[in-house]
Amino acid sequence: MEDKSVKEIWENAVQLIKENVPDTTFKHWINPLVPHSFEDNCFCTLTGQSLAVLILEKNQKEISKALSKVCGKDVYFKVVYNEELHQQIEKEQQKAKKEEQKEFIQNLEKNLTTSKYDGLKQMQSDCKLNLKYKFENFVVGANNKFAHAVSMAVAKDPGKQYNPLFIYGGSGLGKTHLLQAIGHYVIFHKPKLKVKYVKAEEFINDLVNSLAKGMDKAGEKNKKMNEFRDKYRNVDVLLVDDIQLIEGKARTEEEMFNTFEALHNAGKQIVFTSDRSPDKFENTPDRLKTRFQMGLLADVQVPDIETRMAILIKLSQDNGIKLPTNVIEFLASVYNKNIRELEGAFNRVSAYISINEIPITIENIKNIIGYSEKRNTITVEGIIDITAGYYNVSPEDIKSTNRSAKTAYARQVAIYLAKEMTEESYPSIGNCFNRKHTTVMYSHQKVKTDMNADRHLAADIKELTEKINN
Ligand code: ADP
Ligand code: MG
Repeated sequence: MEDKSVKEIWENAVQLIKENVPDTTFKHWINPLVPHSFEDNCFCTLTGQSLAVLILEKNQKEISKALSKVCGKDVYFKVVYNEELHQQIEKEQQKAKKEEQKEFIQNLEKNLTTSKYDGLKQMQSDCKLNLKYKFENFVVGANNKFAHAVSMAVAKDPGKQYNPLFIYGGSGLGKTHLLQAIGHYVIFHKPKLKVKYVKAEEFINDLVNSLAKGMDKAGEKNKKMNEFRDKYRNVDVLLVDDIQLIEGKARTEEEMFNTFEALHNAGKQIVFTSDRSPDKFENTPDRLKTRFQMGLLADVQVPDIETRMAILIKLSQDNGIKLPTNVIEFLASVYNKNIRELEGAFNRVSAYISINEIPITIENIKNIIGYSEKRNTITVEGIIDITAGYYNVSPEDIKSTNRSAKTAYARQVAIYLAKEMTEESYPSIGNCFNRKHTTVMYSHQKVKTDMNADRHLAADIKELTEKINN
């Protein structure tokens, strides 16, 4: 067998497998596998899609059989999740998404006035706006009725009534969606107005870079800072996402204050979103806090079960997936605190049932979403969100390759808590963090050991555990 390379064996086996599994399974999950090694009768392939490990369990026998036939002896087939492949796929997907947006904009170009086109292009490229986040796609319930209504009012008449509009509430409850919906609405209905969407984190980084670049030469500093200021003040509508991230960063707070004053005095609209109300900004100077409060405060609450079901029904319709009512009710009752998680569960379920012909029963759904009665509502995603908020970093950073000391620290703590507070296995926690299960094991062990010597760390863990349990 030595003379046949791993690649050759796989290529031959794939021909056989193709004939014996459903087309979609082959296309989505088997074809992208990368042959890796063949040792001790175990043929190992790598996947960048964490779900493939679960999905291909069903086809394990079929694939092993094909490999055995090609090799002329009993072979055991194995799929292993690989972080690098995952990153590669993500990169390709991002590239495809960019292409798609480019195409979308090119199509629009034909029908839109120039200014509308420029505005949209600016939004899409600078701000990574999500085309899905529009008012049309926002399900209104008692929990967000007010925030939705005032966002609409602001979008229809920016700079007039509620300025600033300050939207606040817990993670995954639709704040970013509403903020971007305002942006999209203005661009489509008031094409002459210039809209800028910025995440507070980007604002901070941009400021730090502008200050740093200007350090070397006298004169350069002013130039860089002027460029920075122009960028945020030369707009009609400024949308700032996750403003809580600037709390306690004095220089950024000062710059935000100045930006606010300049825009507000010129009658330009500002909208903030935040995970807490202005009075909970403990380390922020009063003069900025009062600016946050001088317009209108609107909170978004956790949606009730009917709204959560309505969101699932809308998702099902948009994706052409039929889910029975009892399943919708079940999912809506499990994911009762965070719409991002509800959507995540829906995506998992729809990916699974679109390629596996299984009956859509609650039992099956429980398996797909990894539901366990004990674990109830504590989820890894929830832990990531809470830990990220606690350390003032973003949940995306925790899941990314960002290596800054602060992010890495928050990530390790979140991994430790995920292992301690949920029933999830190391690999499945690894999937949530986009990391290998060995990394998860290492981080868990490290925090466990460090806690004994580090009182601050132990105190953080205690406080976070309480937050997560509530
Ligand atoms: P937040 O910024 O408050 O953390 P997001 O705006 O990112 O939350 O919302 C998380 C996900 O849930 C997004 O995909 C968003 O589209 C979806 N979502 C939130 N609220 C609603 C809603 N009322 N209707 C439809 N989708 C919603
Ligand atoms: Mg958000």
